Amino acid sequence: MSLPKPLSLSHRFLEDVVKEGDTVVDATLGNGHDALYLAQLVGKSGRLIGFDVQRQALDVSAERLGELLGRCELHCCGHEEIGERVTGPVAAVVFNLGYLPGADKELVTQTSTTSVAIEAALNLLRVGGVLSVMCYVGHEGGTEEGRAVRNLLRGLPRKQWRVFEYAAVNAPNDPPFLLVAERVRQG
Ligand code: SAH
Repeated sequence: MSLPKPLSLSHRFLEDVVKEGDTVVDATLGNGHDALYLAQLVGKSGRLIGFDVQRQALDVSAERLGELLGRCELHCCGHEEIGERVTGPVAAVVFNLGYLPGADKELVTQTSTTSVAIEAALNLLRVGGVLSVMCYVGHEGGTEEGRAVRNLLRGLPRKQWRVFEYAAVNAPNDPPFLLVAERVRQG
């Protein structure tokens, strides 16, 4: 066995949590890899709701989803609208922050909107549901954003939430880190 990197670890958690028929959210569609993974997990009777501000990300994701697109709803708008556009409860909400590889590197997720979206996402999660946030800190604003997300999750009450962080310790140049929060009790 080789130890999983943070991103594959996130997929393992999601695989444990998400069941056929569930509703899940991909808050940053990007190139659609997480969306495809999630759409497979929810099965025919489930629903994937995806967000991205770039039309290119929606197009690439739709292409990748192929015949699974029928179980998906893709929104070309900011994830800060999750609260208005998604009705809970949901089994999982996934964020992959930063810029879209292969596109404009200046267009990155922003601390203020990411924070609004994560607050809303937490409110949507069912008991047993999981929030997964992959934080990239190598670009401008990334360190601040990662810190803001970490602080927000740090403040969650321990009776209702379990929160963990995973990162490579001996990697060079600001390695990405994964934050995951599980709702263990309503409230
Ligand atoms: N950094 C990751 C990929 C992140 S993709 C990696 O290297 O694998 C991040 C996506 O978030 C991009 O497609 C970008 O368009 C999108 N995005 C930026 N701001 C957003 C917002 N407010 N709401 C939803 N998506 C947003």
